[in-house]
Amino acid sequence: MDTLYERTNDPRAVIEADRAHVWHHLTQHKPFETVDPRIMVEGKGLRVWDIKGKEHIDAVSGGVWTVNVGYGRERIANAVRDNILKLCFWAGAQGTIPGAQFAERLIEKMPGLTRVYYSNSGSEANEKAWKMVRQISAKHHGGRKSKILYRDRDYHGTTLACLSAGGQQERNAMYGPFAPGFVQVPHCLEYQAGDQGGEGYGERAANAIEEVILREGPDTIGCLCLEPITAGGGIIVPPKGYWERVQEICRKHDILLHIDEVVCGLGRTGTWFGYQQYGIQPDIVTMAKGVASGYAAISCTVTTDRVFEMFKDDTDRLGYFRDISTFGGCTAGPAAAMENMAIIEEEGLVENSAAMGPYLQGKLRELMDRHACVGEVRGLGLFQGAELVSSRDTHEPLPEKQVQAVVADCLAQGVIIGASNRSMPGYNNTLLFAPSLVATKDDLDQIVGAVDGALGRVVG
Ligand code: PMP
Repeated sequence: MDTLYERTNDPRAVIEADRAHVWHHLTQHKPFETVDPRIMVEGKGLRVWDIKGKEHIDAVSGGVWTVNVGYGRERIANAVRDNILKLCFWAGAQGTIPGAQFAERLIEKMPGLTRVYYSNSGSEANEKAWKMVRQISAKHHGGRKSKILYRDRDYHGTTLACLSAGGQQERNAMYGPFAPGFVQVPHCLEYQAGDQGGEGYGERAANAIEEVILREGPDTIGCLCLEPITAGGGIIVPPKGYWERVQEICRKHDILLHIDEVVCGLGRTGTWFGYQQYGIQPDIVTMAKGVASGYAAISCTVTTDRVFEMFKDDTDRLGYFRDISTFGGCTAGPAAAMENMAIIEEEGLVENSAAMGPYLQGKLRELMDRHACVGEVRGLGLFQGAELVSSRDTHEPLPEKQVQAVVADCLAQGVIIGASNRSMPGYNNTLLFAPSLVATKDDLDQIVGAVDGALGRVVG
């Protein structure tokens, strides 16, 4: 095909420019002294080509589960072009046409929620949520109800406040001191819960949150922030009975429930939003990646009327939300998001995610028959994980080096998968699968086939 790669005059010059000047995210650069950095050039559907012309099937939607509708969507590009030519930007203190239109469309998918606050990354959307919580505490609770609870193994972003709410210790290790007022609650990964597991675990795991609440003092806690399914922490699907109890606990102690849908939002789990799998009603929902599938930067902090109304008080000069995100005023974001949502609807991608999820899970489960290192397979929709262990008896994680070797072997076969990186005792090492929601059975067969070969070669 006539790829951009073929039209790039001098791939070597691009590679050398990258090697000399780009500081890659989450990457050890030492190997680039001898190995070329990988430059991705072009994509179509869930296939991507690198600058050396190698074709890959992308099982992680752009590396970090973002490109929900797949690559090469002309209608999103056209919508962005039309809107930025008409009006590229206006600060969010005033409205824009795409901003208003997308908010209305989004709210249709989220019964019980009514307001959309725009910014441009998942981290930022979460920080907005917590600033709202803190302001509610200042205005209505004399500043006391300001603590934010987060869960072990959840991840909410990269800023210092987000790391203060980060349950992945190895990501945090070198960035303290952290912001005060963030308190960790236990995880709910039954596979690594030891004696705690078994009948009733969901309720017990939720009760463990309440124990922290009672210890800290319920009147000091503003919100509980949870991922619907823990993503980077290893595809942790909360156990039966968990969410009902979590909701009950939040209501009982007047604690806002903030659900971080940065990964699960926009169809990833087979419903529009992950929380909708569980029949719960959050007070605040944040989202980013799949909102515009990476075609533009946009994130949203969505709230109920009850939350919004607490900021509407013109007798109090400081009463409104004193926050801005400059690029939350870009029209490219909501314009791309409108088209992204239209594609998901017209092509039935939420339904495809729901239908293909069990297929992918079944295929991954078949690997358990052939590879003793696959301890558990779990997930919802096109969001699945395979936890790798050294022993199915003890659930001891497979060493991280071997997990990385499996990922590298798949890459060499032209299949890009992910892995949660756990080098800390007691943690889980999980292969991650989150292909674009257009994935077919053939695509999934190809992905799992590569993993099968890799496990055989690396682990034996
Ligand atoms: N929340 C979750 C659950 C995430 O996985 C991420 C990113 N991986 C974020 C928040 C942060 O999003 P961003 O990188 O856009 O700031």
